[in-house]
Amino acid sequence: MTDEVPIPLRIRRELIAAARAAAPREMVGLLGSRYGGCVTDFVPLPNVAAGRDRFAVDAIAFAAAVQQLEASGASFLGFAHSHPDGPTGLSATDRRELWRDCVQLVCGLGDEQIRAFRLSRETVRELAIVAASDPRFGTAGAAR
Ligand SMILES: [Zn+2]
Repeated sequence: MTDEVPIPLRIRRELIAAARAAAPREMVGLLGSRYGGCVTDFVPLPNVAAGRDRFAVDAIAFAAAVQQLEASGASFLGFAHSHPDGPTGLSATDRRELWRDCVQLVCGLGDEQIRAFRLSRETVRELAIVAASDPRFGTAGAAR
């Protein structure tokens, strides 16, 4: 698997906007991809976790969002969540709860940075976020 994840500027803006809207709580949503592991879709979900520094999604909302992604031609790529006032890295809880082979984006509101991680086998690796063209604006395919 590649160690980078292309994210169009449009998606980065959506992620930061969703993180701002959810603050002071954590934002959470699903990521979808239509080509080449590029994040082309973001579906915000209600955060049903009790604590302020946690996120959790309802199983039925998750299933509906995956169905929505697949019906529109995307496949499930992973999750995004925010750290309204913490660092953009993974928390200890995040590391424990990572889903294998899924992209996990963490959006920090302090510096408006986004970082990407993936658990493969037993190892958590940080992925490089690269710019991506956006197929909705007519330049499909190119990863950079
Ligand atoms: Zn986190």
